[in-house]
Amino acid sequence: MTDRPRLTTSAGAPVADNQNAKTVGPRGPVLLEDYQLIEKLAHQNRERIPERVVHAKGWGAYGTLRVTEDITKYSRAAVFKPGAETEMLARFSTVAGEQGAADAERDVRGFALKFYTEEGNWDLVGNNTPVFFVADPYKFPDFIHTQKRHPRTNLRSATAMWDFWSLCPESLHQVTILMSDRGLPQTPMHMNGYGSHTFSLWNDEGERFWVKFHFKTRQGHKHFTNDEAVQVIGKSRETYQEALFGTIANGQFPQWDMFIQVMPEMEAIEFEKKTGWSAFDLTKVWPHGDYPLIKVGEMELNRNAENYFAEIEQSAFNPSNVVPGIGFSPDKMLQGRLFSYPDAHRYRIGTHYDTLEVNKPRCPVHHYHRDGEMPTGLRTNPDAYYEPNSFGGPVEDPSVQEPPHRYEGEVGRYDFRAEADHYSQPRALFNMFDEGQKSRLFSNIATAMAGVPQEIVDRQLAHFDKVDQAYGDGVREALRHAKTENASVDTSHAAE
Ligand code: NDP
Repeated sequence: MTDRPRLTTSAGAPVADNQNAKTVGPRGPVLLEDYQLIEKLAHQNRERIPERVVHAKGWGAYGTLRVTEDITKYSRAAVFKPGAETEMLARFSTVAGEQGAADAERDVRGFALKFYTEEGNWDLVGNNTPVFFVADPYKFPDFIHTQKRHPRTNLRSATAMWDFWSLCPESLHQVTILMSDRGLPQTPMHMNGYGSHTFSLWNDEGERFWVKFHFKTRQGHKHFTNDEAVQVIGKSRETYQEALFGTIANGQFPQWDMFIQVMPEMEAIEFEKKTGWSAFDLTKVWPHGDYPLIKVGEMELNRNAENYFAEIEQSAFNPSNVVPGIGFSPDKMLQGRLFSYPDAHRYRIGTHYDTLEVNKPRCPVHHYHRDGEMPTGLRTNPDAYYEPNSFGGPVEDPSVQEPPHRYEGEVGRYDFRAEADHYSQPRALFNMFDEGQKSRLFSNIATAMAGVPQEIVDRQLAHFDKVDQAYGDGVREALRHAKTENASVDTSHAAE
C-alpha cells in the first residue's frame, strides 16, 4: 500500500482489484457476483442527467458583486446595502444548441446570475439582450420548437424560424439584435447582461418601484462575423469555455458595471399611455432618455469551478428566487418562467436540487418540506415536522412581508401584441448602426434565410420595410447576392 487513499465501493468496502473481472477460468464468463464491476457499469449508465431543453451549452464561474452606490431608497434588499460584497455564480449559455454545440454560434446568450445573499439566494436569469422574441408564455414552447430540430429531418429549420418570426412581429426587435454584430459575441466576457424582464424593488417604507437590471461589460464589446466564426469553429468548438476558464485561471478577472432603471409604481400607466407599450412587455426596452441608468456597483468573476458537472451543469437558476426587497412584475413571460424554471430543475436534477453545494444558500435554511427523492442531511429538530407546533420549529417573519401589488382589471385573455407598435424600437436600434453594421445585418439575415420559401421571406421583408425602407431594401439586395453564392436549400418543410 502507498500513502494514497484506498479505493472503495460507494458503500465504502475496500476494492482489491480494479483491473480484472471475476471469471470462471482466465477466459470467462464473468460472474454476476462481481458486484464491484456491476456497480461500476451501472454508475456509468447514470453519468448523464437530461440536458436543459434550452440553454444546454453553458460556461460559468464564481465571483463577487460589490455595491458601490446607495440604492436603499428603492430596495431594502441586504444585497444592495452600500458596500455589501456578495458571493455569486454566473452561468452563460447559448439558447438553441445542444451540449455538444459549438460555442461561437449566432444565438442569444443566457446571462444567469445567482447571488448568495444573507437573506437567501437571489437569481437574475437574464440574457445578453434587453428584450426577447415573444411577450406571452403561450408562445415560448412554440418559439423554442422553431429553434430546435425539425421532427422529420432532425435538422435546424430556417423555414420554421422565419415562418414563426414573420407571423409574430413582436419578435422583430430581438431578431434585429440577433442578426446584428451583437448576435455573435467573441466570449462571454465581451457582452452585456440584462435582466430583460421588468422586476420590482420595494423599500423599508413599503414603496414599490418597477426595475430593469443592466450589466455592462468592462472588457468592451467584441464580436465575430459569420465568416470569422466559421474559421473559429473549424479550430475549436469550445472557445467560450477556453476563454472564460483560461482568463480566470490566469488571474485576469472579468468585470461588469451593474445599473438599474427605475420607474415609480404608478408611472407604468402613464408610460403605456405615452408610448403605447406596456412597461411589462418583454419585447420592448425602457428608453434610457426617459429612464436613465442608475449605477449600483460592480460584478467580478474571479474563481473557476472545481467540477464542471457538479457546479455548472447542476447549477439551477430560478427567476422565482427573490429576496426581501426584490419582487416580480405582471410581465407575462416572467410569470410563466416563475413556474417553468423550478419545474425544469425538479425534473432534471431532482426534488432537492437546492441542497446541492452550488445551489445551497449560504444563509441558514429552515422549512417543513419532507422526504422525497434523495434528501440530504438530517433535521436538527425532528419533533418539529409540521407547523404550527409547540416544539421550537421555525416560524414566519412578518417583518419581511412584501407590500401588496396594486393589480386591477377583468380576468381575460388580452392580445396587446396586435395593437402595440413593434417597429419604433427596432427602428431606434437600426438608426444606431453605422453603414458597416447595417451591411452585416443585411447579409447575416440573407444567409439565415437560405432556402426559406419566398412567401415567408416576403412576409418578413414587409416587417423590415415598416422599420425602415432601407432595412427591407438592404435585405433584398443581400438576398440577391446570397442566391448566387449560397446553394444550400432548406428542405425541412418540403413535404408539406
Ligand atoms: P440609447 O442610445 O440611450 O441606448 C442605446 C443602448 O443600446 C445602450 O445600452 C447601448 O449599450 C446599446 N447599443 C449600442 N449599440 C448597440 C448595438 N449595435 N446593438 C445593440 N445595442 C447597442 O437608446 P435608447 O435607450 O433610446 O434605446 C434605443 C435602442 O437601443 C432600443 O430600441 C434598443 O434596441 C437598444 N437598446 C436599448 C437598451 C435600453 O435598455 N434602453 C439596452 C440595450 C439596447 P452599450 O452602452 O453597452 O453600448
